[in-house]
Amino acid sequence: MRFAVSITKGIEERKWKLMNKETCIERAENNLVHTYNRFSLVIDHGEGVRLYDTDGREYLDFAAGIAVCALGYGNKGYENALKNQVEKILHISNLYYSEPTVEAAQKALAASGMDRIFFTNSGTEAIEGAIKAAKKYAYTRDGHAGHEMIAMNHSFHGRSIGALSVTGNPHYQEPFAPLLPGVKFAEFNDLESVKALVTDKTCAIIMETVQGEGGIYPAEPEFLKGVRRLCDERDILLILDEIQCGMGRTGKMFAWQHYGVKPDIMTCAKALGNGVPVGAFFLTARVAEKSLAPGDHGTTYGGNPLVGAAVSAVFDQFEELGLLEHVNRVAPYLEHKLDALVEKHEFLTARRGMGLMQGLECALPVGTVAAKALDQGLVVITAGTNVIRLVPPLVITEADVDEMIEKLERTFSNCH
Ligand SMILES: *Cc1c(COP(=O)(O)O)cnc(C)c1O
Repeated sequence: MRFAVSITKGIEERKWKLMNKETCIERAENNLVHTYNRFSLVIDHGEGVRLYDTDGREYLDFAAGIAVCALGYGNKGYENALKNQVEKILHISNLYYSEPTVEAAQKALAASGMDRIFFTNSGTEAIEGAIKAAKKYAYTRDGHAGHEMIAMNHSFHGRSIGALSVTGNPHYQEPFAPLLPGVKFAEFNDLESVKALVTDKTCAIIMETVQGEGGIYPAEPEFLKGVRRLCDERDILLILDEIQCGMGRTGKMFAWQHYGVKPDIMTCAKALGNGVPVGAFFLTARVAEKSLAPGDHGTTYGGNPLVGAAVSAVFDQFEELGLLEHVNRVAPYLEHKLDALVEKHEFLTARRGMGLMQGLECALPVGTVAAKALDQGLVVITAGTNVIRLVPPLVITEADVDEMIEKLERTFSNCH
């Protein structure tokens, strides 16, 4: 009741919310498992490419909830699709058919040129499914289990045990050993290091097309093509993780579409639902035929009608807003501005990235930069140990880029 009264009165509301910020943070720290060191920011709502905290302060968002909110905030077409679905039905289980899910599947397959899709609830579950699909394919082909995988150093594929097992970051892995056996790590962008690890038991090579958490490293064309060739020669499945770099972020719907190669299995999540928790793994027909069959895999929620409506609406909005064209227009401007910044400041040593997935290698402590950027009304995140990561909503404009650069400049001058 207190809530209902306070939100109807302007002054009361501010008081309530002000109190609420501190209480909110204190309660979060007392109640939630401490797996994150959170910024001291209680986000209330969003509009366009801006976030507002509970004190009414505005922030320009160049993080998009970690590359999730591609459409920004308040997209009416997307929101109405969700509202309509909420009023019909949220969930039915995978024992029955539902139209929104079928529609979402058709749109995702059309955009990717893949043949089958399985909806999951997160990125890490998409990776779990991809691993199982690859193992089952090799099992069907060879008549026995016991296959191995090759993954990349500095990769990130998620936090569940299977995904963690192919994540090339000893710091994340160490406390949870023993992990999945039979995973070997090669150097990203070093074809010889991959070749050296291939054996008769290798069933899959897994990598991000653009490494995200590891520090924004795009695959070099010769490397990706070389791995594809290697996979073709040895009937090894190429699993491309497009969870962060997919869904238009690099200027094509999926980053591998820049390279003239195609994966056998692809994973997607983050922007796929624009905030509704959903992931997916995609298979080619050749893999699907010899892979997961009834009883091999499942999920209670995966691809339920709400999620189906969300994914479907996301693909519709990409068309309606011409988002790929937009990314390809605004990204060169962002790159140009970032290059100028690198030129200007000695502590910035490189820019890397594709499209609206950009990283600035920075000699200042990047955690401090991200925290101080908030004081300037700018949300950015980090990657690896020394990269400022920019993964804004795909709807940002040149003016937003200019504003980001100004705010970042002011942030830098407060970091010395
Ligand atoms: C975020 C991410 C994941 C994990 O996704 P979750 O939804 O957090 O489980 C996997 N791979 C890549 C490349 C990611 O960026």
